[in-house]
Amino acid sequence: MAKAVAGEAAVPFFSISGSDVAEMFVGVGASRVRDLFDQAKKSAKTSGRGCIIFIDEIDAVGRQRFAGIGGGHDEREQTLNALLVEMDGFNTQEGVILVAATNRPDVLDPALLRPGRFDRQIVIDRPDLKGREEILKVHTRKIKLAKEVDLRSIARQTPGFSGADLANLANEAALLAARRGKEGVGMQELEAAIERVMAGPERKSRVISPYEKSIVACHEAGHALVSIMIPGTDPVHKVSIIPRGTAALGYTMQMPLEDRYIMTRRELLAKLAVLLGGRAAEEMTFDEITTGAQNDLEMATEIARRMVCEYGMSDRLGSLTYGKREGMIFLGRDIAEERNYSDQTAVIIDQEIRRIIEECHQRAKGILNQHKDRLKRLSDTLLEKEVLDGDEAKRIVMAEETPKPMEPPSGASQPMPA
Ligand code: ZN
Repeated sequence: MAKAVAGEAAVPFFSISGSDVAEMFVGVGASRVRDLFDQAKKSAKTSGRGCIIFIDEIDAVGRQRFAGIGGGHDEREQTLNALLVEMDGFNTQEGVILVAATNRPDVLDPALLRPGRFDRQIVIDRPDLKGREEILKVHTRKIKLAKEVDLRSIARQTPGFSGADLANLANEAALLAARRGKEGVGMQELEAAIERVMAGPERKSRVISPYEKSIVACHEAGHALVSIMIPGTDPVHKVSIIPRGTAALGYTMQMPLEDRYIMTRRELLAKLAVLLGGRAAEEMTFDEITTGAQNDLEMATEIARRMVCEYGMSDRLGSLTYGKREGMIFLGRDIAEERNYSDQTAVIIDQEIRRIIEECHQRAKGILNQHKDRLKRLSDTLLEKEVLDGDEAKRIVMAEETPKPMEPPSGASQPMPA
């Protein structure tokens, strides 16, 4: 962005990365900062139009000072002081504009944000649907696209992707098309590239025992089935038991129809049920649980914790927030939680989180129990085909038309197998 501004204004552009400067030997970081400003000021004078200095990852040098442990006069602090001195040292007539970027504005030293220093903050979020489409257009400009390519649809499938992710996606798709000897990049390559960027390249060579594979199939079928059976959840886009990346043995990909900024309690509970559906299916089918659900459980616990502590969604605890999250500067990047509630409340918080998880687990189990035959059919097909898209999964689930209700009415207990 800063570079684009410099280009647009046709002024010289100087950049430095905070993490590079912060890692230098004592005194070197500070002198690098001074050199950079000297150079920029000179160039601004000669060009007569000013210039732009850009500091990437400013948090690496600009973290809040003091911070308890280990005294203060470290290298980073010297660099920060040099930066502050330089910032105060130039006036507006020189035309030197300083731009910096950070992902952690919350940890910056307040001295940096005082008027006359960095006095304007511009939030640049991940792009939305429209933004992603436009970014894709830019990155595919030099790529030959097949006629059928619909970038809008690719944009719809990539919520949460950054500009860099999208550039990577376009690149991967072009490589794939070249490898397949195609004349242009088609939807197939673009969609395969989405998965690559999301989950790392497919590893077809990895050997999984048939038993392990059947557990993964059952687990993923559990997620998918619960999701299909609860109305209003994000539609299942793809279910796969082809291992990817470093950790995932399989995955169920859900695609929201639009970017979401707020969610209702009902939606969060449905999400939890889907997350817990994987393990519930393992339990039911194999009468055993595995380590495969670790990531699901972590995510589920975090959602439940937020519902209770941040969103005020527990009736028992009411519409209050509990705990203040804060970056603890002297421990580095870690986030610690400041407790602002009693031990008694802590116990209730734990109970509420546990209750929410347990209820959603039971809900998932109830659904799977009611549709055992469907679960089996889905997991068998998955085992055979390895990958199913959302429509296929739905068709398999809905194969025989039974006029059963989608979900048992709440409170009604389902008969459990002995
Ligand atoms: Zn899972």
